[in-house]
Amino acid sequence: MTHALVASARDLAPEFERRAAHWDQTRSYCWRNVQDLSEAGIMGMTLPENLGGQGASFLDVVEVVEEIAKVCTLTARVVVEANMGGISAVMAYGSEDQKAFCAPHVLAGDKPAICITEPQAGSAATEMQTTARKCGDTYVLNGCKHWITGGGVSKLHLIFARVIDEAGEEQGSGGFCVFADPMAGDMPAGFEIVGRERTLGLCGMPEAELRFDTLEVHERWLLAPPSGLKRGFKDLMTAYNSQRVGAGTIAMGVAAAALDRAKSYLLERRPFGRPLAEFQGLQWMVADMETQICAARLLLRDAALSCGENGDPFPDMAKAARAKLFASEMAIKVVNDALQMFGARGYSDKEPLERMYRDVRMFTIGGGTAQVLRNQIASSALGMKCPQTRTGYVDQDWPIQTLAAE
Ligand code: FAD
Repeated sequence: MTHALVASARDLAPEFERRAAHWDQTRSYCWRNVQDLSEAGIMGMTLPENLGGQGASFLDVVEVVEEIAKVCTLTARVVVEANMGGISAVMAYGSEDQKAFCAPHVLAGDKPAICITEPQAGSAATEMQTTARKCGDTYVLNGCKHWITGGGVSKLHLIFARVIDEAGEEQGSGGFCVFADPMAGDMPAGFEIVGRERTLGLCGMPEAELRFDTLEVHERWLLAPPSGLKRGFKDLMTAYNSQRVGAGTIAMGVAAAALDRAKSYLLERRPFGRPLAEFQGLQWMVADMETQICAARLLLRDAALSCGENGDPFPDMAKAARAKLFASEMAIKVVNDALQMFGARGYSDKEPLERMYRDVRMFTIGGGTAQVLRNQIASSALGMKCPQTRTGYVDQDWPIQTLAAE
């Protein structure tokens, strides 16, 4: 099964490669590719077979994503988000109704949007201000989210909010599955898409600001992890570990493609009467690039395989963080070096390297910055909580709070 989907991805790749510049230059979403992915069974490939998916593992997705990232970063992001992250949270923690509602949309081509970040709550996501107040059998959402990938093209939205009960007590954090179809003008009252960022790279993907003003959501759409709302944020973020593995894989795939292009060019271009490949200064760059790509691939696959190791259905947090951190920083460097090897030609839009260079830049920011990932890795390595607030350590009683004490 894995090989069939990887083979399908390879079959689609030449066409995706041909279209990639178009999405970038026109800042348009890759609808044509989405249709191809849907027909190939790649959209929602991780969904269980009883819901129409293929029951594919995260490792399967990683292999498919690498093939697609080599030709089109934008399309690879769609594949990640149609198989990891938000939709995986619904499949792991959702009710049967929620799963049955979401699955057909994803299989038909929807890329769910995961809505966490707010203007005053980025890395400090727990400081989000969006609230969901219980009112009878409904929750009323108020707040604002920004940098929401797919806002304006996605139909399914997983909106993170602070849940307040009818007595005004905060219950913790939950995710709300909200359907809105902006392309068809079918928006629930109180749900507005107020703007789109103009980004450096991945220009075909809308990054949008969403506003909720007394948005009513029936209680059956509250996604509450099994351990309850008090731990809701932590558990929902566990699902994000899969998305991090996916994001790291995109970065690694782009780097691998950049290196392939550079290797061909080194053999073809002949300054000083000899191929560039004969210059040792460039040979050693190739050696480092190749080594780092191989290392990233192993970290990512190890992370993808770690599902269940910690008792939850997602990759291990530290493995996912290490893999995304290494792959994202590596990709920025490798694509930069590949562009350097092309000289002026690399700097031109006649080569895809300038687009790849702009595209990979985001992977140390979106989905957990490199610094935040380092905080998580340090916390895991030291086996202790690493609070980020000014009083965080002062407030802890001696001895230091260890993770095992949770
Ligand atoms: P800040 O939190 O303000 O951080 C600014 C800088 O300070 C960063 O370099 C950061 O690493 C550093 N920093 C912050 N805290 C610490 C600390 N404790 N220790 C050390 N350094 C620190 N969000 C969503 O909810 N859904 C999406 O679909 C989504 N898609 C995105 C797509 C793109 C292309 C981008 C760029 C972002 C996306 N985001 C999304 C938002 C993303 O998750 C945030 O941008 C990210 O979490 C960082 O938050 P911030 O931009 O507010 O930076």
